[in-house]
Amino acid sequence: MEFSKIIEQDKPGKDELVRMLEASGEERTLLFEQAVKTREQFIGKKVHFRGLIEFSNICSKDCYYCGIRKGNRKVKRYELSDEQIIEAAAFAHKQNYGSVVIQGGEIASPAFTARIEHLLNEIKRLSDGKLGITLSLGEQTGETYLRWKEAGAHRYLLRIESSNQELYGKIHPAGHTHDFKARLGCLHTLQDLGYQTGTGMMIGLPFQTTGHLAEDLLFIQELDVDMVGMGPYIEHPDTPLYRYRGELLPIKERFDLSLNMIAVLRILMKDINIAAATALQAIDPMGREKAIRVGANIIMPNITPGLYRNDYSLYENKPCTDEEPEECLGCLDARIQMADSMIGYGEWGDSKHYQQRIRRQNNSTG
Ligand code: SAM
Ligand code: SF4
Repeated sequence: MEFSKIIEQDKPGKDELVRMLEASGEERTLLFEQAVKTREQFIGKKVHFRGLIEFSNICSKDCYYCGIRKGNRKVKRYELSDEQIIEAAAFAHKQNYGSVVIQGGEIASPAFTARIEHLLNEIKRLSDGKLGITLSLGEQTGETYLRWKEAGAHRYLLRIESSNQELYGKIHPAGHTHDFKARLGCLHTLQDLGYQTGTGMMIGLPFQTTGHLAEDLLFIQELDVDMVGMGPYIEHPDTPLYRYRGELLPIKERFDLSLNMIAVLRILMKDINIAAATALQAIDPMGREKAIRVGANIIMPNITPGLYRNDYSLYENKPCTDEEPEECLGCLDARIQMADSMIGYGEWGDSKHYQQRIRRQNNSTG
């Protein structure tokens, strides 16, 4: 089939997705044009912010790719205090960001659940309920997810990392603490509880093929999520996967493949929120803006106090670690305009996909 027809299909199959993911030259231009057209038709030109608070780098897990994994003894561990988190959220509110994301290493304990619940209540209080809150705190019990939802969290990000169970097994330790089915179960629980649910994967992992990535896209479609955050895998020297660095796609190709993934996903899932991952910016200073140009519509400016940014080092060359949040905002505004988009200040920017889903549910029950 002609490429121009493939990109117009409503339900492309795996082989067609692979062709789109591998598009280069003129075909790539066509792919990007179709993605931009789709974004403008279904989402518009607005980009929404989620102020990212990297709450703690203490983690109970040992994912083979991640620089803050439990087994990395070289990391200086930190945890923001309640005051620092609340201050960062107040900053986001003052700057009219609309939403924050609280992200960190995975800890599961009654004390941790209660602490996050308290923080959610405080953030809701300080913003008079106006600040949207996304959590990204890993795998938790349904009871914990429910408590956090009732305390004010309404979105949750939990990347599946790879939807291929065999590949998932190669990038995580064996055993029940890093179980693919458990992670998938968490995504279903989040959806059942009514969270706007987000998932995603890393692109350019060792052992990963474009066939795997095409399956990832079909997985996202099948799961019918509201948001996706996906970006390039970037190696970290103090992790087990670093030994495969010689087998990876060159970094520039990983970046280009990530842009193709975003464009194809936009064509496939027309009205979901797609985040421009920070890892893109680690490779190319304009990486996030380039992602916006090919279909992404969410940016997560880092508002973690500067002092701690270097310690949340998931991979090499993490960007903006020496900038204070105020400095980031001015440059971001100009950069978004350069990407022919505008910022939806003070708005939650819920995914249209979610809004449609809720409307359908309400219609069928009432
Ligand atoms: N601990 C939570 C979890 O794993 O869901 C949230 C924090 S975790 C640091 C957030 C994301 O960072 C992970 O889902 C993973 O995809 C990404 N990440 C970790 N190491 C990475 C690396 N070396 N390159 C790119 N992304 C990475
Ligand atoms: Fe912990 Fe998340 Fe890193 Fe895995 S990816 S080691 S769960 S912080």
